[in-house]
Amino acid sequence: MTDIKPLNDDGIALAADILRRGELVAFPTETVYGLGANAMDDMAVARIFEAKGRPRFNPLIVHLPSVQAVRQYAVMNGAAYTLAEKFWPGALTMVMPRAKDCQLSELVSAGLDTVAIRIPAHPGARRLLEAVNLPIAAPSANTSGKLSPTEAAHVASSLGDAVSLILDGGACGVGVESTIVDVSGKKPTLLRPGGIAAEEIEEVLNQPLIRAASDDTAPKSPGMLSSHYAPHCPVRLNVETPETGEAYLGFGPTEKATANLSVKGDLREAAANLFRLLHELDGGQYHAIAVAPIPETGLGLAINDRLRRAAAPRG
Ligand code: AMP
Ligand code: MG
Repeated sequence: MTDIKPLNDDGIALAADILRRGELVAFPTETVYGLGANAMDDMAVARIFEAKGRPRFNPLIVHLPSVQAVRQYAVMNGAAYTLAEKFWPGALTMVMPRAKDCQLSELVSAGLDTVAIRIPAHPGARRLLEAVNLPIAAPSANTSGKLSPTEAAHVASSLGDAVSLILDGGACGVGVESTIVDVSGKKPTLLRPGGIAAEEIEEVLNQPLIRAASDDTAPKSPGMLSSHYAPHCPVRLNVETPETGEAYLGFGPTEKATANLSVKGDLREAAANLFRLLHELDGGQYHAIAVAPIPETGLGLAINDRLRRAAAPRG
């Protein structure tokens, strides 16, 4: 059974150790329980998608304790500072450009050049973030498609052994997710309504928010994001033998690979490497990227979903 510990000093110290080892810890925030991993560790972030059984890689929210920490990973513009001043810590997530030397996993951003960040207000979450001193990626701690957990017991029954430790901080404020505002473009855009009213944000910004054309009740997918990562060069899938001039992205033992998602054929490792290797091979050196077959099981579903989008004809 998964370990459940009270959210006190001992629990927090243990959680910080586990997070540093690259494993998952569920913890309460003021919105719902989050499934946390070290956001700088590709393998740890891949475990989040594996544990949730998400059929696709949507970008994750990174949790940090202070604006000073945020500036290490993201570029804050005037609107970001204005909103941070008024609403952080709290139920506001901002999408910002990744900083130049950003050390966050590319999987956290699902390959995009932006990152979603929140400074939570929950005292227990804040103590954990300060103790671990790492950026923590954390979507809701439930299997994909199930209700967001507001109690430790919900997490245990939903995720079981996939999570190494659950910090029990009692019940969260009922299932209100954070409001997501994209401040990376010229005009701030509301990506998801949530705990902080759009009108309040508009009042502070002194301008209307652009409303993203998406349904606030449906789970967000990369297709609904304002932009999503697609390589510049053509991508071919299920390739056993690459053609001359193509980069070959391998999976499993092969001598033909220009780069390999996982020599061992491990899907978690492949997920961890996916966006970084696509970016590497997409630098203009090759006229196409040919990708080896990836099994349609476990994380292979999300990997193949991503690859199919990358390979789809573009307008
Ligand atoms: P959650 O499941 O609560 O962690 O919410 C994550 C959601 O935040 C994603 O499904 C996206 O809708 C949104 N999001 C996160 N990062 C980005 C980003 N870089 N660009 C646009 N939307 C993002
Ligand atoms: Mg969720």
